[in-house]
Amino acid sequence: MAGPEKRPALTDQVSEATTARLSVYLRCLDQLAVAGVRTIASKALASRFGLSAAQIRKDLAHFGELGVRGVGYDVEALQRHLREILGLDRRTRVAIVGAGNLGLALADYGGFRDGFEVVALFDNDPRKIGARTRSGLVVSHVAELARSVERERIDIAILAVPAAAAQRAVDQLVGCGVRAILNFAPGALRVPPTVRLKSVDFTASLETLSFFLAAERDGKGASR
Ligand code: NAD
Repeated sequence: MAGPEKRPALTDQVSEATTARLSVYLRCLDQLAVAGVRTIASKALASRFGLSAAQIRKDLAHFGELGVRGVGYDVEALQRHLREILGLDRRTRVAIVGAGNLGLALADYGGFRDGFEVVALFDNDPRKIGARTRSGLVVSHVAELARSVERERIDIAILAVPAAAAQRAVDQLVGCGVRAILNFAPGALRVPPTVRLKSVDFTASLETLSFFLAAERDGKGASR
């Protein structure tokens, strides 16, 4: 007997680039809501924030009819919807591994969306264990990771250790059951297919800008 037809998971249908744009749309909507705007058409949304109206409509179409033809989007309803889609309607608990320059800056950064909460910070340097960040988070030994992931119900780990320590730290996180990792260490890292790893490569971003400047200098230009 044939079982129920299996629909492809939303994560297979919607690309990471689309997800990143949803996050941008949400920030724009947050600004509009603060300014008292109640409805907005995709065209106005696009021109106000330098976005593409066609892209907005295409991205939002993945999630059904979110706007009203001729009227546009209800700002508050779309905010709520995007929050749900991005999983921001629940608190996401974040741990940082590596209490160095970057890890400490991120631990004290107050600008994450209110859905994210940094609840734990780890290092393996005995001189750092027990120290507090400016916002009061205590640095724990990385040997405590497994216990803490379970007790603190960690959803996402941010990796801010040197490149040479990164794969081992990733393996440790995966072994503890962490399924989403944001990595700042340069270099390729391996994770099993059940784990989502996203790397932020500052150097690659700088090189992209440097390429743009170099092309301008050589008079070849570069389209964005
Ligand atoms: P850092 O040396 O200041 O801090 C790294 C921290 O990781 C140290 O406190 C160290 O004790 C800890 N550590 C080392 N091995 C560990 C392990 N196995 N488990 C737990 N903790 C461990 O380095 P940083 O400047 O904060 O950079 C962190 C990472 O981010 C590096 O990979 C770096 O290349 C990358 N990065 C940093 C920046 C920046 O602006 N600081 C920019 C781009 C990329």
